Amino acid sequence: MGSTMSLVLFGRQGSGKGTQCARLVEKFGLIHLSTGDILRENIRNKTELGLFVEPILSRGGLVDDATILALIEDRLEKSDIKESGFVLDGFPRTLAQSESLVKMLEPSSLDAVINLEVGIEEVTKRMELRGRSDDAAEAISQRLQLYETQTVPVIKWFDEKGLVATVDGVGSEDQVFSRIVSALSERGLEVAVS
Ligand code: ADP
Repeated sequence: MGSTMSLVLFGRQGSGKGTQCARLVEKFGLIHLSTGDILRENIRNKTELGLFVEPILSRGGLVDDATILALIEDRLEKSDIKESGFVLDGFPRTLAQSESLVKMLEPSSLDAVINLEVGIEEVTKRMELRGRSDDAAEAISQRLQLYETQTVPVIKWFDEKGLVATVDGVGSEDQVFSRIVSALSERGLEVAVS
């Protein structure tokens, strides 16, 4: 068993993915790579990338694969990632992104893909409550629709590679997190943290 983990966490918008990523970071010392966070930070700082993606995010669309891949490739090459391991959040979202990710990681590979399962009705309720700027009703439904058409096939693709562990995302933060930890240890992934 290696000393780090390479993970992807999938879950619909509002599934609690961000919270559970933070718990994984805390417990296993992984680096959290969220394409959404990186894009929003660029929007806040009014970078060239930020100005380009702002209208896309506000209507709930997907940023093009080349832009996203350049971001991720840059980040995955840094030495801290190799030392600490990582959990990807919000990426990959399309089959093209998935295929590129697998190539980028070679000769290494992902250890596991966690699919945090929360139904559409429940996540819609949760997102209406949290009120982020791209959480306007229309953008929410657009993002949920893209999740079904683009991301669900991606999860299937990873499942065919035997990498997916589906975890019930309904329950308390602690309950959900312990389900994730069990799913990882069932796959022999238990990394000691200092
Ligand atoms: P959510 O999971 O709630 O949609 P994210 O923070 O993952 O939120 O992403 C916010 C937005 O950023 C997306 O709606 C999309 O516009 C853009 N985005 C993030 N990651 C990607 C990606 N991998 N490919 C394309 N667009 C992305």
